[in-house]
Amino acid sequence: MANRRAKALYRTCSVAQAYQTWLGVLLNGVVVLWCALWLVFVARDQAPAWPWLVAMLVPGLFLADLFSGLVHWGTDTWFDETQFCRVVSIAREHHIYPHHIVDYGVRDYLGYSCWPAALAIGPVVALLSIAVPPSPVTYLCLFLCGEIALFMVFGTYGHRLGHAPARSPVVRRLQQLRLLISPSYHKVHHSGNHDVRYCVINGWADAVCDRIGFWRSLERLVTACTGSVPRRNDAEWFQRFAKDPRFMTDPVPSLRELRLEAQPERVN
Ligand SMILES: [Zn+2]
Ligand SMILES: [Zn+2]
Repeated sequence: MANRRAKALYRTCSVAQAYQTWLGVLLNGVVVLWCALWLVFVARDQAPAWPWLVAMLVPGLFLADLFSGLVHWGTDTWFDETQFCRVVSIAREHHIYPHHIVDYGVRDYLGYSCWPAALAIGPVVALLSIAVPPSPVTYLCLFLCGEIALFMVFGTYGHRLGHAPARSPVVRRLQQLRLLISPSYHKVHHSGNHDVRYCVINGWADAVCDRIGFWRSLERLVTACTGSVPRRNDAEWFQRFAKDPRFMTDPVPSLRELRLEAQPERVN
């Protein structure tokens, strides 16, 4: 249940935005269902022995966690409210008022990670299931794709678990076993520059990505290709917040103003 003391700033949305969000959920649902039907349909001829499928749950959980980190990292690092106003505003609000995340509704929790999953995993699933002949290898690949897409349905609920003590003893046990993130784990993301511990399912991928500098390497690559500055928009939100938090009700005009003011400095 949402913590009603936390008042999320972007909880209300237009009818069009609500439909867009549900469309992402629907598309990712189709990806999950497509995978499930394909796996059942070819199981008799192509399915590896069941211990293989049980073993694949582990890399699937890791990849789902990594995927959740990529979505979180991408939103935190590169986009701004002139591109995806509501989604980016919610992400920036989350760094300023982390506890507000518990006040969003089911539609937003599902939509945030379903859209990227449908866009990234959907084409891979279509390719593997339509253009590649069925084999035990394609079976395992589609099993993994289906697992990631399925976890992304609940992706943002994982993030929510990093912000509110779980009531369910089952969830608390899963957190103790490091199968889900916990508030004490996720608070590290919010205690510094918001540039570590992006993964929000179980944190397994953080252990690798943060240790090897995966996110910083990826940022250097994106900057080299596009010239974009990592976390520029996050800094712009904190800059405006320090001056007057009221900009958050309509952030786009103040962002344009801020960038216009900064332009001469950027040219010289
Ligand atoms: Zn968070
Ligand atoms: Zn973040």
